[in-house]
Amino acid sequence: MNTFDHIVIGAGSAGCVAAATLAKAGRRVALIEAGGSDEGFLDALDAGRWKNLVGTQHDYDFKIEPQPHGNSSIRHTRGRILGGTSSINTIIAWRTPDYDLERWVELGADGWEPTTVAPVFERLFKQVHIEHASLQNRFHHDLIKAAEQAGLGLIDFSPKSTVQSGVGYLYFNKKGDLRQSASVAFLHPLHQWGDRLSVYTDTRALKILLDDNNRAVGVETDKGNFFCDADLIVSCGAFLSPALLMRSGIGPAEHLCEHGISVKQDLPGVGENLLDHPDSMIAWETVRPIPQLDLNGMGMAVFGKTDPNLPVPDIMCHVGTAVFDTYTRPHGYPTADHGFSLAPNVARARSTGTVRLRSADPDARPLIDFRYFTDPYDEKIIVEGIKLSRRIAAESPLKDWIKRELFPGKEVQSDAEISAFARQVAGTVYHPAGTCKMGAADNGSAVVDPQLCVQGIDNLRVADASIFPSMIGVNPNITIMMIGMRCAEFILNR
Ligand SMILES: Cc1cc2nc3c(=O)[nH]c(=O)nc-3n(C[C@H](O)[C@H](O)[C@H](O)COP(=O)(O)OP(=O)(O)OC[C@H]3O[C@@H](n4cnc5c(N)ncnc54)[C@H](O)[C@@H]3O)c2cc1C
Repeated sequence: MNTFDHIVIGAGSAGCVAAATLAKAGRRVALIEAGGSDEGFLDALDAGRWKNLVGTQHDYDFKIEPQPHGNSSIRHTRGRILGGTSSINTIIAWRTPDYDLERWVELGADGWEPTTVAPVFERLFKQVHIEHASLQNRFHHDLIKAAEQAGLGLIDFSPKSTVQSGVGYLYFNKKGDLRQSASVAFLHPLHQWGDRLSVYTDTRALKILLDDNNRAVGVETDKGNFFCDADLIVSCGAFLSPALLMRSGIGPAEHLCEHGISVKQDLPGVGENLLDHPDSMIAWETVRPIPQLDLNGMGMAVFGKTDPNLPVPDIMCHVGTAVFDTYTRPHGYPTADHGFSLAPNVARARSTGTVRLRSADPDARPLIDFRYFTDPYDEKIIVEGIKLSRRIAAESPLKDWIKRELFPGKEVQSDAEISAFARQVAGTVYHPAGTCKMGAADNGSAVVDPQLCVQGIDNLRVADASIFPSMIGVNPNITIMMIGMRCAEFILNR
């Protein structure tokens, strides 16, 4: 009864898409998810209610290791529910910039060039509905004018095009108020699948089962064992996919031995190359309230270049129509009832970190160390991001909205002062990636090959944010859904 064609572990952005694509093609699939169902659960389905899930049992709420150059108190929200983090995110939708796919190919990901991937996006967008932000109020109008004065034109951020410098309204994966999470867009209603797709919620994978020939044959869970005849796909996200591989004996041999785990495959890259979009914050109090028409208080973004000759923007900046003070308040910076924030982030951060096991116990949270801002490039970009934000706010008509700069404050002016502030109160755009990176089959640091097969293990693939070879310059959710679809298509087209 517990034997399937395929098993997908983790029903997040990638896992739901992979499982549905395989089941639609007639394969018998088991989808194993640690969290509960989102069907009929309004906090997960209503696009504007995600904050109700943060810090609850639907959020893993990961702590990170101390960060000598960054903010150690950052908490990483991750969805523990059908749809995974796509059920708890702010639904900003982009397609992968061509520049980043070309970079992946340079790093050994043969077959991921923009022209090859484009038809996959077309198939994805047939199922995931994308809408333009419905706002256009006076504040946004004035912000656009100010950005134009600062040299950033109004551009269309449609997922159909590739992102360039400028200011623009965001697009969201939603249909009216209904979030287009991976589960809503690909799985619902669950009863439609019959025995093609069996969804096991509240079921946690403990270990991948390998036979004597290093072939994945199933998974041990807290509800019993499940077996598959063909590919098993790990889609547990950038923290928990490497952790599951390591607990199963696949990872850096020395580290596994430290925890008494018998080594099935020495793969030094598992848990390495942890990437993210670190951001920081600058905020102003306004002379009057800002009309709150936009979803999540975040309807616009600004993309800028620190050098006009760069091929792509290196600063991404979300615009918030509220004072985002989570990490500034504890340091005593002032706040206000009405104001706005600009949150510049390092579009292609170069600091890399690690995910390591705390112990072999599946209940033990992994050790997550981003090593934020250890690469001086990231520090330079975040400083330039704060300066760009100030240049925009200094222009008319936006400056007429401003009563005072709340933080960092007028006295913080030199690059060193801005850097110290920006890193002290740094946050994350919540985009961990890269910990099972894709690369050429002969690349010793790659974990999966360009068809997402785990090196040295038969029948095992990884499909989620962890396969990113390098960070992409936009919010990644749609890219990760695309990875889930590609993984299933690799299997079906074999
Ligand atoms: C607050 C927030 C806002 C965000 N906003 C945006 C945005 O606006 N736009 C955007 O593009 N991106 C956004 N993101 C990021 C984006 O949502 C994630 O990068 C993406 O969802 C990650 O997809 P994934 O498939 O890698 O992992 P996930 O979607 O996290 O899926 C992993 C799944 O695996 C399950 N799992 C893990 N371990 C096990 C196990 N052992 N057994 C069984 N199941 C397991 C988990 O419960 C989870 O359901 C946001 C993230 C957050 C936290």
